[in-house]
Amino acid sequence: MHPGITLPDYLDVLTIPTPFPVGPVNIYLARGDDGLTLIDVGPRFEPAQEALREKLTECGYRLSDVRRIILTHAHSDHCGLAGELAEEAGAEVFSHPANFSLLANYADERERWLAFYAALMQEAGMPPDQIVQVDRLRRGMSRYMTPVRPTATLKEGDTLQLGGEEWQVLHTPGHSGGLICLYQPQRQLLISSDHLLRDISSNPIVEPPEQEGRERPRRLVEYMRQLQRIAELPIELALPGHGPFIPDVRDLIARRLAFHDERARQIAKLLQNGARTTYDLTLSLFPHLDPVNRFLAVSEVIGHLEVLELQGEVISAVEDGVRRWQIGPSPR
Ligand SMILES: [Zn+2]
Repeated sequence: MHPGITLPDYLDVLTIPTPFPVGPVNIYLARGDDGLTLIDVGPRFEPAQEALREKLTECGYRLSDVRRIILTHAHSDHCGLAGELAEEAGAEVFSHPANFSLLANYADERERWLAFYAALMQEAGMPPDQIVQVDRLRRGMSRYMTPVRPTATLKEGDTLQLGGEEWQVLHTPGHSGGLICLYQPQRQLLISSDHLLRDISSNPIVEPPEQEGRERPRRLVEYMRQLQRIAELPIELALPGHGPFIPDVRDLIARRLAFHDERARQIAKLLQNGARTTYDLTLSLFPHLDPVNRFLAVSEVIGHLEVLELQGEVISAVEDGVRRWQIGPSPR
């Protein structure tokens, strides 16, 4: 899968199956004097668990050799297994503080998030029967996750030792608010998680505010900012959370940013004939989607509308519980 590329000798990639359309997840194994570190662990899914055990055995290790687990973000394909694994291995669990409540209080947080999404989809103009379907499907995904209580924080500017080398923690919110990348400046290596994938444009999924009453974060706006920031770093190779390694980081980021610009232009054009709901715009852009993908598409369109709003190109107003967008100068 990664022809002609060699990683530092203390680092391995383990590719683990997931039950999700995204396909397998890449987790990274770092050997050090203080034992093994896993960067992400995969979902709570029998084939994933088996694959992880097998691959550790192939490398000459057992689960109990894992001393540290680093979770790049709180999505179940990356961290669903962490609770069981940390307990079995007695490992420390590191993550960004923005992931803590979802990781540790999964059941309660899940309910808060589902209620938030139902309200957001309603405001977007999604028909009630589809909101119910989305809710049901998202609920079903809970089985791939067990709660895990992180024991230590990793924040922007922190450093950690992997294989005796110093890696920097970069907080890159966008795809998820708590997402971190790890950067090794001498080798110019970036463990990019889902911030940068070669074959998929990472969807910056709308998320509720960390605390009720606060403003909802603009994930696509943040995501594009964080892509630009990564493009300024010298990077020889990015090691992503899914799919092949990425040697041409700057080119890929330029393509991603152009793609998002183009999509925003398409949406602005659709609004030229009058005000529309987010759901209506989503159907025009993506007419044939199943409920989960329609949810992701609505989330993406919300992101683009927020970018356009920030640029002063569109405005919106809520009427009878549904938000309508139109071309117009910023009211500010
Ligand atoms: Zn993710």
